[in-house]
Amino acid sequence: MEKVSDYFGCMVFDDRVMKANLSAKVYGSLKKTIDEGVPLDLSLANAVAAAMKDWAVAHGATHYTHWFQPLTGVTAEKHDSFITPSPDGGVIMEFSGKELIKGEPDASSFPSGGLRATFEARGYTAWDPTSYAFIKGKTLCIPTAFCSYGGEALDKKTPLLRSMEALNKQALRILRLFGNDTVKCVRTLVGPEQEYFLVTKEMYDARPDLRFTGRTLFGAKSPKGQEMDDHYFGVIKPRVAAYMEELNEELWKLGILAKTEHNEVAPAQHELAPIYTTTNIATDHNQLTMEIMQKVAAKHGLVCLLHEKPFAGVNGSGKHNNWSISTDTGVNLLSPGETPYENAQFLLFLCAVLKAVDDYQDLLRISVATAGNDHRLGANEAPPAVVSVFLGDELNAVLKAIETGEPYSGAQKTQMKLGVDVLPKFNRDTTDRNRTSPFAFTGNKFEFRMLGSSNSIACANIMLNSAVAESLKIYADRLEGATDFESALQGMIHKTISDHKRIIFNGNGYDDTWIEEATKKRGLLNYRTTPDCMPHLLDPKNVRMLTGHGVFSEAELKSRCDIMLENYCKSVQIEANTMVDMARTQIAPAVEDYAYKLAKAAAAKKALNQKLACGYESALVERLSGLTDTIAVKAEELAVLTAKIADITCSNNEGDIVIAQSYFIRDEILPKMAQLRAACDEAETLTAKDGWPFPTYGDLLFGVR
Ligand code: ADP
Ligand code: MG
Repeated sequence: MEKVSDYFGCMVFDDRVMKANLSAKVYGSLKKTIDEGVPLDLSLANAVAAAMKDWAVAHGATHYTHWFQPLTGVTAEKHDSFITPSPDGGVIMEFSGKELIKGEPDASSFPSGGLRATFEARGYTAWDPTSYAFIKGKTLCIPTAFCSYGGEALDKKTPLLRSMEALNKQALRILRLFGNDTVKCVRTLVGPEQEYFLVTKEMYDARPDLRFTGRTLFGAKSPKGQEMDDHYFGVIKPRVAAYMEELNEELWKLGILAKTEHNEVAPAQHELAPIYTTTNIATDHNQLTMEIMQKVAAKHGLVCLLHEKPFAGVNGSGKHNNWSISTDTGVNLLSPGETPYENAQFLLFLCAVLKAVDDYQDLLRISVATAGNDHRLGANEAPPAVVSVFLGDELNAVLKAIETGEPYSGAQKTQMKLGVDVLPKFNRDTTDRNRTSPFAFTGNKFEFRMLGSSNSIACANIMLNSAVAESLKIYADRLEGATDFESALQGMIHKTISDHKRIIFNGNGYDDTWIEEATKKRGLLNYRTTPDCMPHLLDPKNVRMLTGHGVFSEAELKSRCDIMLENYCKSVQIEANTMVDMARTQIAPAVEDYAYKLAKAAAAKKALNQKLACGYESALVERLSGLTDTIAVKAEELAVLTAKIADITCSNNEGDIVIAQSYFIRDEILPKMAQLRAACDEAETLTAKDGWPFPTYGDLLFGVR
C-alpha cells in the first residue's frame, strides 16, 4: 500500500509540479499571478498550458475542460480532447495558452435569470489561476469563472472572488491604520464540515421520491430512530469504513485535505471535514468532495444523499462553514492577541463581524435558502431561521465591560478603557461549545451553521465577506479621518457593541422562547422560508452594499433572486408531482390490495362459520378504506393545485410572477403535500409490510450493514 504522503495531490497541477515543470521565469510570473493577481501575458500562458498538457497527458489525460460553477448549484464541464490532426494523418496533443485562459462553452441552457438572451448564448469561462488545475478520470479540469459576454457573472465563483477582494481591500486599510505595513494581502479561510447519509443502492432505486427529489416524501417513523444517540461518534460499520477509506484516497489524490470523519447523530448519517484553506479553494474542493462522495458510493453499492432533509423526524444534514480572516503572513485576525495592542485590533475585527451579521441577517439567511434547507432550519436539530451570534462567556464579559465602562472581571481585573495600552490580555474561551447557535465564535474563527448539506458554500461566503468588508469600510473611513486614533477606535468599538448587542445570544437556539424573544423583544428577523427571505435580496440597503463593493451588479442580483426562486418552485413542483404519482400508482393500490385480502379473509372465515365476527378484518378494512378515500382526494387536490402554478400571472414583471408562484407553493402546495403524506404514512402503519411498495424508514436507515 502506497503511503498517503506519496500520492497526496498526485492528480493536481500544484506548486510542486509547477516548479518542476516550468522555467524559473514562467514560474515566477505565474506565482505573481496567483499571489497578487497580476495578469499573465499570452506567451507565458502558452508555456503554462504546454507544461500543464504534458503533465496531464503523462498522467493519462486525453481531454481538458474548463470546470465551472453555474447557478444550478452543481459544477459543469464540457470536455475537449487535446488532439489536433497532424499532416501525416496522425494526431498530436495540443493545448494553447488561449485555450487555458478562456473558453466559450455554448451555455444557453444554464440559468441566467434573463441576463443572457439565448441568441447571445455564448457565455465565456475565464481561468482562475488561484485554484489549481486537476485531473479527474481522463480529463484535465481547469477551475474557471463563468460570465456572459457583457461581463455579468453567471456563476458562483466570480462574485466569491470579488467578495474576497472587497474584504482584502478594506482589511488592509484597517491594518495600515494599526501601523502594519508588511501585510500584502488578507484572505478568508474556510473549513466546511460536510454531513451526508448513506443508503443502499437497491433501496434507493426502489424509491421514486429519492430518485427524483433526493428526499423521502413518504415514510412512517421507524420504531427506532435516533433517540438512543447510539450512532453519534459510534463505531463505523465495515461497509461504511471501506467507503470512507476509498473516499479519502480519492480526495487526497485531488489534493483535498480530508481530515476527520465520523458518524453523525442520525442513523446512516456521517460527516467529513477537511482542513481549512483559502475560501475559493475550499469552495472548489467542497464541490469536488460532494461529487466524489457520490461517485465512490456508487462503487460500494451505496448512494450518498446530500439533501438537507432526506427523512422526516430524523436529523437533517447541514454544512458548517468555519470561517476566519488571515493575513498572508499567517496571522489570524480573529484570534485574540498577546498584547493589548493586538487585542484592540482583534476587537475591531470581532466588532466588524458582529455589525455585519446584525446589519445583514437577511443576506446570511438568503445565502442558505433552498426548498430543502427550509425543512431543516427551525426543525429541532438545526439552527433556527433567526440569525444570532454566540460569543461565549469570556468575550461576552469583555464586551459588556467595554459597553458599561465597568471593570472587567476576567483574569486581570483591569478597568476596561479601550485606549490601546490598557486593554488587557484575555484568553481564548474555555467555556462549553454552544452547538445550537447559527453563528458561533469558536476561539479563533466563526462557525456559520445554517448552510444546508447540498448548498455551495460560495453563497454564504460571498455574503459574509461582503458584509464584513462593509463594516471594515465604515470603520476605516472614520478612523482614517480621526485626529485621535485611540479615542476614535474606542468610541467605535463602544458604539458597535451597544448598537449590535441584540444579535448576541448565548443561550439555547433550539428553544421556542428564544424565537419569541428574538423576534418580539430584539426585533431580529425570522424568515422561515425561501419565499419569505429571497425577495429581500433586492432591498435597497442590500443592493447598495453589494454593488458598492463591486460584488454584484444590480442586474446580477435581480437575476439571482429570480433563479433562486425558480429553483425553489421547480424543486417543490417535482416533489408534488412525485407524490401524486406514488400515491396513485403505488400506495393506494398497495393499501387497496391489503384491504381486499382482509375482506377476502373475512368472507372465507364467515363461509366456514357464520358466527365468526371478523371484527379485526372489518374494522381494519373500514379504516383502510377511509384512508384510500382520503389519499385519492388529497392526491387529486394536490394535482389540481400543482397544475395551477403555471397559470399564476402578475401585473408587472417576470420577477413578480416567480415571487407570486413561490408564495402559492409555500401557502397552498406544501400544506397539501403534508396532508397527503399524513394519510399515506398512517396507511403504511396499518398495511402488511410484505405488500408495501417500497423500502420503509426502518429499512433505509438501518439497511447499510
Ligand atoms: P468541530 O468540533 O466543529 O468538528 P473542528 O476543530 O474539528 O471543529 O474544526 C472544524 C473545521 O474548522 C475543520 O474543517 C477545520 O479545519 C476548520 N478550522 C479550524 N481552524 C480554522 C480557522 N482558523 N479558519 C477556518 N477554519 C478553521
Ligand atoms: Mg463544527
